Amino acid sequence: MSAFVRGGAFPKLAARLEAFFVRHRHKLVFVHAAMFLLFAGLLAVPLITGGTDADSRHIAVAARYLIWGVWFPLVFLSVIATGRSWCGILCPMGAASEWANRAGLRLPIPRWVQWPGTPVVSFILITIWAQTAGARDHALGLAIVFGSTLAAALLLGFFFGRRKRAWCRHMCPIGLLLGVYARIGAVDFRPKQPQPGGDRWTETNACPTMIDLPHKTESRHCIECFRCVSPKAKSGLYLRLRPPGEEVANIRDHHPNLSEVMFVFLGTGASLGGFLWLALDSYQWLRQALGDFVIARGWYWLGEPGPVWLMSNYPAQGEVFRWFDFFLITGYMLAWTLAAAAVFSAATALAAWLSGRAGGDGDWRARFVELGYQFIPVAMVSLLLGLGGALFETLGAAGVSGEAVGAIKVLLLAGGVIWSGAIGFALLARQGVPARRRLLPLLPGIAASLAAAAVWYPAIFAG
Ligand code: SF4
Ligand code: SF4
Repeated sequence: MSAFVRGGAFPKLAARLEAFFVRHRHKLVFVHAAMFLLFAGLLAVPLITGGTDADSRHIAVAARYLIWGVWFPLVFLSVIATGRSWCGILCPMGAASEWANRAGLRLPIPRWVQWPGTPVVSFILITIWAQTAGARDHALGLAIVFGSTLAAALLLGFFFGRRKRAWCRHMCPIGLLLGVYARIGAVDFRPKQPQPGGDRWTETNACPTMIDLPHKTESRHCIECFRCVSPKAKSGLYLRLRPPGEEVANIRDHHPNLSEVMFVFLGTGASLGGFLWLALDSYQWLRQALGDFVIARGWYWLGEPGPVWLMSNYPAQGEVFRWFDFFLITGYMLAWTLAAAAVFSAATALAAWLSGRAGGDGDWRARFVELGYQFIPVAMVSLLLGLGGALFETLGAAGVSGEAVGAIKVLLLAGGVIWSGAIGFALLARQGVPARRRLLPLLPGIAASLAAAAVWYPAIFAG
């Protein structure tokens, strides 16, 4: 008999899901293999058929829509309902990295890989690279960026870790995103016999993402592989369903940390920049002004096209980036990344100070880190609008009117702002701020969320 009480929402459903996945988890290898073939096909087939005839163009467009318009947005939206189920159940890249690990050298995972900022840097680099290499619009660009990411996952798996997924835990840019958003998701794996002391990293158990299982309190690294779950055992983990947002509203019990908060801030800016350089007139003004400056100084090498692995170089499709474009897009996106981080940081700093004045407990830094988590819903919507824009194009192509698509975007943004405000309210409650004094420390966060929503205005009515 298990001594634990499952609790949470829909405990019977959780028990059934748990039993189902435990019974069938040995078959996941076939799912992963099928997904690997599908993934490789989506990247390779448009290149193989890569002519300019109508059929080839249709294949390339279909592959792009499947990746950017279906897979990318749906994976991110699914996190709210099912956590990182994509990672554990479907993702071919993570599975391939683990396969490579089994055949590989199994060296100790280097400290630079384990550095908490590594996936943040990885996300920003890949996001910018996807823009400069034309991964959204060109089959070759897509294959270069995703194929290189897969190669990196395989190489890291081959060299480092012992029967683990070092790539998924430490370097995958998508995994970091899913991990942060899994914190607001409805799925949780909890130890039946939790140990005090908080989350720890370990290579000495069955968890592929190196979670010290009895100490687990946070969801972000759990890829839902079910390897730690044995319904009849007294120890191990169990599946628990919960109201979305529960973990973040009580983040102090679930290993809050500054690197994750900074990722939320920087990642929102990167996704804003990734959309706005295409949508705003300011980019074109800047391009004109800096172009004149470059010509006046005779820096003509900046007008040369660059290598196709780094930047769009597709004369047949009428898109050739010069080094000038490469540096400008990169600089523009980095500027938005830093500007968004500055705005969110300033708002959170002010909120943490006001919380302290209103009776919030802990020191200013601890309050800052906790309150930074209020922006996760707004950040998630930003990512959806910025990097998952093809979803809305897909809706348009499916016959949904432009007004209806705009209304969906407005609703998403409004929902993100309201949910962020609600999480901010709950975080202040956990800090001990009395209800009647919460409005003032809540205002900076609401203002920053509204500012992010306002910047998305061109995205709402684009296309
Ligand atoms: S962390 Fe990345 S590579 Fe690993 S399973 Fe998740 S999405 Fe796939
Ligand atoms: S905690 Fe359990 S379900 Fe989550 S990744 Fe580790 S072994 Fe898999």
